Amino acid sequence: MKLDTRAMRHLASEDWRVLTAVEMGSKNHEIVPTPLIEKLARLRGGVSGVHRSISALAKVGLIARVKEAKYDGYRLTYGGLDYLALHTHASRKVVYSVGNRIGVGKESDIMVVADHSGKQCVLKIHRLGRISFRTVKSNRDYLKNRNAQSWMYLSRLAAMKEYAFMNALHEEGFPVPVPLAQSRHTIVMSLIDAFPLRQISEVPDPASLYADLISLILRLASHGLIHGDYNEFNILVKEIKSTDEDGKESVTLEPVIIDFPQMVSMEHVNAEMYFDRDVNCIKRFFLRRFHFTPTQPGPFFKDAKKTVGKGGLKRLDATVEASGFTKKMLKDLEAAIKEKETVNEGQEGAEEDEDDYDEDGDEESEEEEEEDGDDDGSEADDGEGEGRQEALLTGGLS
Ligand code: ADP
Ligand code: MG
Repeated sequence: MKLDTRAMRHLASEDWRVLTAVEMGSKNHEIVPTPLIEKLARLRGGVSGVHRSISALAKVGLIARVKEAKYDGYRLTYGGLDYLALHTHASRKVVYSVGNRIGVGKESDIMVVADHSGKQCVLKIHRLGRISFRTVKSNRDYLKNRNAQSWMYLSRLAAMKEYAFMNALHEEGFPVPVPLAQSRHTIVMSLIDAFPLRQISEVPDPASLYADLISLILRLASHGLIHGDYNEFNILVKEIKSTDEDGKESVTLEPVIIDFPQMVSMEHVNAEMYFDRDVNCIKRFFLRRFHFTPTQPGPFFKDAKKTVGKGGLKRLDATVEASGFTKKMLKDLEAAIKEKETVNEGQEGAEEDEDDYDEDGDEESEEEEEEDGDDDGSEADDGEGEGRQEALLTGGLS
């Protein structure tokens, strides 16, 4: 599923009201009955106006008609949810235009967007439950048992959790993108001008970058946190160029960490496993890519555990609960992320020894590949940030 903002400008304010009504109705109804949409939208033009908007929205795929034995109605599609989120970001003047897609995660779309002043930012759209690509049959069976509502619910939770942690980490001075806004299943953050570690074939001093990355793991731990997916895709490496007094140029590398929906507390029952996995992921990558082996063993969980909250360090693991997450929400999200990991492991197994970015860097399904052949998407996935920005503003946004 790809974000296509072309229809956005053609929606009238009544259409937005009706779309919002379908979203509201979805809270209690898997399929929102038409009379309920009419009631929630309360358009001045009356029922016929609502029906006109319903057709317009269904035509561009923002809502979908569902025929049930009991009653007919509509459900919000992922596209509809995307539009509502973008509409909110646009009304709050966070996003003015949408540009290229720079990343397709297994469970997200990453787009470059710009605000009114033209400043570029990143929009991350969570799509939990979108396990597709070279899927094995069991994934398809698993998908069948999931209804769209639970995908949306989980994607929303992922965005909320990621935003809460990004805020907390940013406030504590960690090198993370600046969190700018969150709406539904999306977040807006600053654009980091850097490549993922995965794309870096050589570094002047692997030992020093390794030490920085391990010390970030330890610093997170001292605040009660484990990243949980600390790999070469989720570490961006900034190159800071400087010139000394003699005119000699040097480059220092500065890691920036991203991707936080799966973060766990140092108190989690499986904390040690997650901690060790993060550490080993870095070790394995440095060995394979840079032929680097650290001289010291560890770091070890039991030592890191002793540093949690030491000297009055702020505990950040309580962040998520403090931001309104219930235990059930956390459990639901954790279960979904675990399922995703199991599927990912199955896929990665086959490509374990491939170290070439180009070969497995593109995770798109064939269907999506075809869609990208059209004029709007053809340049979207080449990783180059520059491109056309599609303005969002519509008559409905007054
Ligand atoms: P996922 O949860 O799907 O793994 P990520 O948050 O890790 O999503 O983002 C996927 C990719 O998008 C990253 O590997 C990175 O290349 C790019 N990316 C994400 N956020 C940013 C950002 N703020 N600035 C620059 N690139 C980013
Ligand atoms: Mg990632």
